[in-house]
Amino acid sequence: MRIESIPSGAFATNTYILEDSGTVLILDPTGKAQRILDHLQGRVPAAIVLTHGHFDHIGAVDELVRQFHCPVYVHPADQVLLEDETLNGMAGMTAHVRSQTRPLTEGLMKLGTIQLQILEAPGHTPGSVLIVIGQDCFCGDVVFEGSVGRTDLPLGNDSQMRQTLKMIRTLDPQLRLYPGHGPATTLEKEFNDNSFLRTRRG
Ligand SMILES: [Zn+2]
Ligand SMILES: [Zn+2]
Repeated sequence: MRIESIPSGAFATNTYILEDSGTVLILDPTGKAQRILDHLQGRVPAAIVLTHGHFDHIGAVDELVRQFHCPVYVHPADQVLLEDETLNGMAGMTAHVRSQTRPLTEGLMKLGTIQLQILEAPGHTPGSVLIVIGQDCFCGDVVFEGSVGRTDLPLGNDSQMRQTLKMIRTLDPQLRLYPGHGPATTLEKEFNDNSFLRTRRG
């Protein structure tokens, strides 16, 4: 699978464009839609998939839907964030999604030729998910290189986050992680170096 990352906005949020056997997916379209269109170079996305509903991950959704009429998938527990700018914003910055969405829930789903495994990972937001495709895991703001997502924003939940991190410790260390901010990493590296996920002393 081909993975392109397009960081943009005040928080350098990663939009990912995925392509496999002719299926193109857009994860967390943020910033200016035109920038994403430039990267698509005429390719038509089969769907937009959101790791969660924070403003810095959703800003270009409506414009891309207007352009492509593609479905938008989000976990139902984060639908409220898409609609309510008092819940999805930070530092006075907000966004919204008026487009219809489809539910992204725990388990397997197929979009075009791409098989996705959705793992519910609440804590940063109630509807945060990990999107696993083969050995690639798109983890939104749940895990970053050396850190994890904050839980002090509206609807964040520290005890849910602790449960989520427990679940993540059971995943395949060979998974490559593509976070919502910052560089890609691997779960093995985070198990060793990330104090929130460390499984060994060292
Ligand atoms: Zn977030
Ligand atoms: Zn974010």
